[in-house]
Amino acid sequence: MSAIETIHVDGEWRAAASGAEREVLDPADATTLATVAESDASDVDAAVAAARRAFDSGPWPRTPVAERAALLRRVADLLQRDREEIALTESRDTGKTLEEGRVDVDDVTAAFRYFADLVMNESGGRVVDAGSPDVHSVVVHEPVGVCSLITPWNYPLLQASWKVAPALAAGNTFVLKPSEVTPLSTVHLVRLLVEAGLPAGVANLVTGAGDPVGARMSEHPDVDLVSFTGGLASGTKVSQAAAPTVKKVALELGGKNPNVVFADACATEEGFDTAVDQALNAAFIHSGQVCSAGARLIVEESVRERFVAELARRAERIKLGRGTEPGVECGPLVSRQQWEKTRAYVESALAEGASLRCGGGQPEPTAHRPATGFFFAPTVLDQCHREMRVVREETFGPILTVETFRTEDEAVALANDTEYGLAGAVWSSDAGRARRVAGRLRHGTVWINDYHPYLPQAEWGGFGKSGVGRELGPTGLAEYREAKHIYQNLDPRPVRWFAG
Ligand code: NAD
Repeated sequence: MSAIETIHVDGEWRAAASGAEREVLDPADATTLATVAESDASDVDAAVAAARRAFDSGPWPRTPVAERAALLRRVADLLQRDREEIALTESRDTGKTLEEGRVDVDDVTAAFRYFADLVMNESGGRVVDAGSPDVHSVVVHEPVGVCSLITPWNYPLLQASWKVAPALAAGNTFVLKPSEVTPLSTVHLVRLLVEAGLPAGVANLVTGAGDPVGARMSEHPDVDLVSFTGGLASGTKVSQAAAPTVKKVALELGGKNPNVVFADACATEEGFDTAVDQALNAAFIHSGQVCSAGARLIVEESVRERFVAELARRAERIKLGRGTEPGVECGPLVSRQQWEKTRAYVESALAEGASLRCGGGQPEPTAHRPATGFFFAPTVLDQCHREMRVVREETFGPILTVETFRTEDEAVALANDTEYGLAGAVWSSDAGRARRVAGRLRHGTVWINDYHPYLPQAEWGGFGKSGVGRELGPTGLAEYREAKHIYQNLDPRPVRWFAG
């Protein structure tokens, strides 16, 4: 495979039909990391045609479930074989630390193994009692067909795998498009699918821009399902483009996630330390470029000053640098555009009355933090309120805003005061209160006394404008299946509805 042959169609690696290329940048110093093919709509059409042929006449949808599961397990093994190489690719491409890259590969491996097990357990039909001994009624599941899978730049391998693994387990064929900003680990993943023995045409890959590539994938009449992970603005366009052909649409969009801390969680030194430590983790891991980032700290008024002071003190000490350097705790933002967007949010917050406790812009360059890199210091903004843009909108950068409450009802109202509803957390030493508040939060995942863990066996997705549908868990497989009811009359007779 040459550098620019990053499009995979019908089992062949190829360059873009137009010959166009794109440079992929290293966010730590803005140098060129790789060159990939820049597809256009004609490459999408070729990929969809291959996926359509493979679905309509190819073996994959009819491959026994046990063989599909075995292929998924082979992919999991290959991911572990290439763990270091993929982690390094992901770290250099996204800026995240090497250790985060390794965690991603392990999570992805777990997802492939989970869907292999799940599809084995859920391969049988469900017999339905039709109310008559002369009827055999069963609901079976079939693949949806050709899927367009579109993913973002923050967790490229992970987001692709949450779609690819269940799509394959269910017997679909697909066209996959990674973000144009971070396509490299997805190219590696498709190489592993080929190595694992997936028939030609089942997994197709196009590298290129959202518009025209993702747009064509969303509108294409031969596509049956679009599964999209990304921002609200692009997700809305995907939905609109898919509507005229009534495709199934799954959307995993952004979040503006509350991290609610009650004073009782901070009553002991250990409790205080844990809540502060996890608030840092919630907001600043991967420089806040996480859909579920706990970017809104909602803390009880009585502990606010102590909490925010300690948070800012520790945020200032986070070691920023190139993600591949040992000892670095946080890498750069993914792109200059993302850096500028983050800076603009800080400026708008300050203009609206927030007070800057730490961070706010580019940190001093060092040997491991080149001035040309897109580094942004972890930022804590105090004195925030719900009318501020920085509180309402997803910044997707290392910005933590602080709001306060006095009562449980106030905490719940603030936490639910968002158009999103992806994730959130409650910190309290009162188990009853924690469960009560968790029950009232309108968010797809709620952590109690923790932040960020997720399980492949538990559904992931959002309320409100955080999306439509769920990934992971049994629902994450169901999205890629059509339910079919087969009703068999074992003793057919005339019904005589019509007398004549
Ligand atoms: P983005 O919306 O800019 O891009 C996501 C993908 O969509 C990319 O592949 C892009 O090329 C493509 N795209 C852009 N415009 C398109 C169009 N008109 N039609 C079809 N495809 C198009 O998002 P991003 O900046 O890459 O990622 C960050 C966003 O992703 C954040 O909002 C984040 O919250 C969200 N995200 C959500 C989850 C989740 O699980 N809910 C996970 C990760 C990221």
